[in-house]
Amino acid sequence: MSGIKVGILTVSDRCSRGEAEDTAGANLKDLIAKNTLFRGQVVEYCCVPDEVDQIKEMLLKWCDEKKVNLIVTVGGTGAAPRDVTPEAVKEVIEREASGMCINMMTQSLKVTPLAMLSRPVCGYRLESLIVTVPGSRKGSEECVRFLAPAIPHAIDLLTGQKTSVEKTHVQLQAEGVKAGHAHHHHHHHSSHQPHCHFNRGHHHHHQGHHHHHANESGNGESKADVTAVCRRPRKSPYPMISVTQATEIVLSHAEKGSTRTLPMLEALGFVLAEDIFAKDPLPPFPASIKDGYAVLSQDGAGARKVGGDATAGCGPEDHTVTSGMCIRINTGAPVPPGADAVVQVEDTELVKESDDGKTELEIKILKAPSAGQDIRPLGCDIAVGEKILASGTLLGPPEMGLLATVGVTHVTVTSKPTVAVLSTGNELQEPGEQLREGHIRDSNKTTLVSLLHQHNIPVVDAGIAKDDPTTLLAALRKALDQASILVTTGSVSMGERDILRPVLTSDFGAEIHFAQVFMKPGKPTTFATCLYKGEKKLILGLPGNPVSAIVTSNLYLLPLCRKMSGRSAVENTCIKVKLASTIVLDPRPEYHRATLCWIPGEDFAVAYSTGNQLSSRLLSMASAQALLRLPPRTEQTKSIAEGTLVDALLLGM
Ligand code: AMP
Ligand code: MG
Repeated sequence: MSGIKVGILTVSDRCSRGEAEDTAGANLKDLIAKNTLFRGQVVEYCCVPDEVDQIKEMLLKWCDEKKVNLIVTVGGTGAAPRDVTPEAVKEVIEREASGMCINMMTQSLKVTPLAMLSRPVCGYRLESLIVTVPGSRKGSEECVRFLAPAIPHAIDLLTGQKTSVEKTHVQLQAEGVKAGHAHHHHHHHSSHQPHCHFNRGHHHHHQGHHHHHANESGNGESKADVTAVCRRPRKSPYPMISVTQATEIVLSHAEKGSTRTLPMLEALGFVLAEDIFAKDPLPPFPASIKDGYAVLSQDGAGARKVGGDATAGCGPEDHTVTSGMCIRINTGAPVPPGADAVVQVEDTELVKESDDGKTELEIKILKAPSAGQDIRPLGCDIAVGEKILASGTLLGPPEMGLLATVGVTHVTVTSKPTVAVLSTGNELQEPGEQLREGHIRDSNKTTLVSLLHQHNIPVVDAGIAKDDPTTLLAALRKALDQASILVTTGSVSMGERDILRPVLTSDFGAEIHFAQVFMKPGKPTTFATCLYKGEKKLILGLPGNPVSAIVTSNLYLLPLCRKMSGRSAVENTCIKVKLASTIVLDPRPEYHRATLCWIPGEDFAVAYSTGNQLSSRLLSMASAQALLRLPPRTEQTKSIAEGTLVDALLLGM
């Protein structure tokens, strides 16, 4: 059984001098030995300094003499003057494999924009494929992982034979080999270079790490490198997108929860996952709308004998109305057979009563009745078989009443997502603690937990995480264990302590879908997804400023929760309102907090700004009923005048 013969060539001045340990090369050897990427074995390993000649010499030997299938060079691909690996590789290869470079670059850019500084070269020489990966342990592993899916096939094509096709589990068992342990170690001792050594028979776990899913089973230490404060980008490397785009992206990742059946009384606040039809009509009989007398309309106005009374709840057949007589009737009572109109008591007079004064014997109709007057015909509110509630409807009080009306005892609803709320910041304390110097109380968690409570969304308090990658990693894991949506606040600005994105990408393999939105407040709002323990998790990284956090929650979190809960209407309600005073526009589209007031006689509600809109000023949010959606400032339009109509998103609905 043969696999891909791999050579790992680490290019590093310091490692070759023995001043540093080649952790990246060791890690790759380890990964390949475990057959986690493809079936193969490391047959050559060497560490050379950043010198074109020495790199070339080793590559030529491995290609031409050793017939190594795949050579991975590690390091020397950057922008430093001594980074010359690509130059050496270019001189050796006969044909370029540019698609591999594109793939490596595209995927790496999703992890970090700094990948653009790497200069990968991939290509073929004789029967060897040579690829260059960066020198960092993390970067090198990522790049090899990106290429791995194509490598076996590339080698097959290159060698014109099936050296590397993955054998099935069954085949391997037939050969008496346990899958995953099918590697053989070759013992080559050909090199006389001081730092060349080979995988010996025994397998060393150099780092004591298992890398398959560091986010789940790692040792707890974050792999995010956030130490380079001087070299951090001074502008966000993420493109700025619009609120509309951001909303679309967030919603495109929302998957409806599974369905479940609940007793009707427990279904309040859930969203129907089935249409509800009426199995009987309402009213189930022609019913009187008034207290009065059931009559024949053709008898016109004038005297009637009173033949008895029909009260709500009595049987419809208890009486019959014939010409010249009537039946006293109550609202909601069944109209007796024969009668085709009800005359309200206000339009009648008493003519004759019994001696004891307890029974009406005869009355007079003052106004001629018309046919059908004051009768709700059978099924006039709800027809039999009518769809009364559609799938996707939120069950509120009237909907619950409708379910009761049609006698539904159990309903199928969509399960709701659970949201974990995590605050980040070294400065934060729980509200009950004695405030220490330089600290503030965490308000965001309480705000967001309350917002979710108000909207009937299950929520988990994931605590406060300090601004340190390893602490944050632990907090994120704990939160993701309990929820499908994670909302964090803070740690997404441009400070060196804003570590959410690096930790998400490095430790969770998360994909950052956006990290800058053209809006105020809320510019650094970040949205990421990752696979965690086999489940897709959605992560909304909201800015730490209290107003930014709640504004962005209203714009992104609530629609997301609505969609995952099965709602067909997920967007916030928007109405037109009239500005009470002139507002100076911001360069970014602003979500301006306002209270609304209805003035009788006016066509539109009037919006009053809550004042100073500093995004730290939670007071500007207190008692706000709407977010005014103001356009960005332009050369022509620097402010919006009093009395202008603007869009307002209603809060608290
Ligand atoms: P950050 O987004 O982490 O840079 O934080 C921006 C601002 O919001 C800073 O002034 C923080 O102190 C403040 N802040 C962050 N998180 C919270 C929180 N949970 N409660 C109150 N203020 C916060
Ligand atoms: Mg912070």
